[in-house]
Amino acid sequence: MSNVLTQLIAELVDGRLQVVDLTQPLGPATPVIGLPPIFASSPGLSMEVISRYDERGPGWYWNKIELGEHTGTHFDAPVHWITGKDIPDNRCDTIPARRFVGPACVIDVTQEVATNPDFLLTPEYIQAWEAQYGRIPVGAWVLLRTDWSKRSDPETFLNVGPDGAHSPGFHQSASAFLAHERDVLGVGVETVGTDAGQAGTFDPPFPNHTTMHGAGKFGLASLCNLDQLPPTGAVVIAAPLKIVDGSGSPLRVLAITQHHR
Ligand code: MN
Repeated sequence: MSNVLTQLIAELVDGRLQVVDLTQPLGPATPVIGLPPIFASSPGLSMEVISRYDERGPGWYWNKIELGEHTGTHFDAPVHWITGKDIPDNRCDTIPARRFVGPACVIDVTQEVATNPDFLLTPEYIQAWEAQYGRIPVGAWVLLRTDWSKRSDPETFLNVGPDGAHSPGFHQSASAFLAHERDVLGVGVETVGTDAGQAGTFDPPFPNHTTMHGAGKFGLASLCNLDQLPPTGAVVIAAPLKIVDGSGSPLRVLAITQHHR
């Protein structure tokens, strides 16, 4: 019997540890990323009742759902991007389960994003965070707290203007630093995708996807409740559906953390 697991359960039972749900509700109203019309678009969720205690099934209720893999709170596997297409164990069904669990490092940039929705995280900013909270450990989930998830209206959440979307993300050098200098599991964001709104215009386009997935790292998009996590000390479990050859999937992202406030 492992002491650490016994203690985990005891502390969950007595409330010293809590489980924080980092997942947005998933339904037909869940906003999806828009792409220029020359590219194929990903459908949001549609849902149809199979039966609901009626003549189609008198004792049971169930639905049929149809959706793009990258809808709502979701996981990006390395195979999602062309740079990650030849990496071993790069798909939802082949990534070892151990790699879905890691310590969370929460970088709070809410102040910066409040005045600049196009804010990009830089290595300098990460190193300043490390000077305060310690070095990002190998195998961490790095979560970018922007409070973007508090934009409950899809229009302000996607924040699309005449020149495209405006939402925060990563400078390519920050993605490279996290992938190569810190060997993280991946990054998580509160926005609709792990690249900034304007990232289609960057060089290379979508530098976070390009860099992270090219290094075999993961992405988590449309997270929420990051304001309930400490900068360090939480453990995040983010396991996608085991879709055969899947490029990503909606998932329930859970954090175990010390109770605070
Ligand atoms: Mn995605």
